Amino acid sequence: MTPFSYTRAEDAIEAVRLIADGRRCLGGGTNLIDLMRKGVEQPEALVDISGLPATIEETPQGGVMISAAAKNSTVAAHPLIRARYPMLSRAILAGASAQIRNMATVGGNLLQRTRCAYFADVAGSRCNKRELSTGCDAREGFNRYHAILGASPACIATHPSDMAVALAALNAQVHVVGARGSRTIALTDFHRLPDNRPDVETLLAHDELIVAIELASSSIASRSAYRKVRDRASYAFALVSVAAGITLDGSRIVEARIALGGVAARPWRAFRAENVLRGGLVSPEAFSRAAEAELADAVPLPGNHFKIELAKRTLEAVLASISKA
Ligand code: SF4
Repeated sequence: MTPFSYTRAEDAIEAVRLIADGRRCLGGGTNLIDLMRKGVEQPEALVDISGLPATIEETPQGGVMISAAAKNSTVAAHPLIRARYPMLSRAILAGASAQIRNMATVGGNLLQRTRCAYFADVAGSRCNKRELSTGCDAREGFNRYHAILGASPACIATHPSDMAVALAALNAQVHVVGARGSRTIALTDFHRLPDNRPDVETLLAHDELIVAIELASSSIASRSAYRKVRDRASYAFALVSVAAGITLDGSRIVEARIALGGVAARPWRAFRAENVLRGGLVSPEAFSRAAEAELADAVPLPGNHFKIELAKRTLEAVLASISKA
């Protein structure tokens, strides 16, 4: 591992000042330290933000504000989250291991890097995300876990988070602070698609810090679910995942919120499927039309043709389960 300096920030203002000087943030360290050991990341200076406030509080508008430093396990177990946003609890608990969830933070979860094996193989693989314009060995290699939506010739990696998929369906807002002030970014806009700059993964500037995630009051809690399909029962990344919630008026769908995981470089909000469903009646045919519409532009790779059908069937199954009386 390359030598680095280490500083602890006492508050967000100090953290912003330190990262503006070129330091990298260290939260739970569950992804960054791994990448430093492998030589993928080589920061010269870290600022530890794990001591920043880690609160989960109800907002005056009836939503919930989650500090970026809150641990994943704390969020998943919190009574407010379990009661109002159960799909978020389920998504978090579907990710990683209990030990990692106890260390990992909400902010770090959003900023974690892809688990593309070629990205992590510094010694032997070409990777445009790690080093721009060098090539992408995943295209002709093992690409079972790679993207079918929103990919580019430069990169076909997927975002590995489960939590972020539920946050996308829940219309979460990401609060950030930086040297030039504070701003709010919709979670659905926060992660970039790769285009010709797969190395730029989010809208977060180098001198900005995520301080909180805000969830608005939502009526979809009672009919919502997160389902993750993976190669083994635990400690595996999603082949496909679905976060979905609906509100019904009798058998008519008033609102649908859907996001897919494991299929793109960002949590994939399924706006097309939502538009198909909104205002229509609950039926297997409607669910099938919604799934077809969302996956219409999917482009499979040699190793992951199956993902298109898997995504459709998983989405249809989740919609069927949450629409039951
Ligand atoms: Fe790198 Fe992206 Fe290609 Fe993986 S898919 S090797 S991350 S460029």
